[in-house]
Amino acid sequence: MRTVTLIIVHCSATPEGQSFDFEQCRRDHIRHRGFRDIGYHFYITRNGEIHRGRPIEQIGAHCQHHNRHSVGICYEGGLDRNRQPCDTRTLEQKASLLALIRELKKLYPNALVVGHRDLNPMKACPCFDAVAEYR
Ligand SMILES: [Zn+2]
Repeated sequence: MRTVTLIIVHCSATPEGQSFDFEQCRRDHIRHRGFRDIGYHFYITRNGEIHRGRPIEQIGAHCQHHNRHSVGICYEGGLDRNRQPCDTRTLEQKASLLALIRELKKLYPNALVVGHRDLNPMKACPCFDAVAEYR
């Protein structure tokens, strides 16, 4: 099993009122980013549904320099209607994120939960303080 030291939370940078479902995300990663599959391991749509992306045994493609030892989770949203960074998580997404992170922490008890922005200060992603919320 690969070593996982980080659980990295992302947003899809989708404005409120718009949809960017799991298949759209997967297609975008394959067509426009040249990945062979979606870069995230999990994708949580606004209704709270948790979609499995890349198998967690495989290295993802979601955070430069940190893919090898991390699991990537993305929620649909992250921008307000004016396309400004905003914590747009629905109650369903918050509940699913928490449940998923709890499960992953059982698999990887020593992994730290962080947001993309904690590893790359140029990013606003995931538009909330993941370190404080999942401490
Ligand atoms: Zn991100």
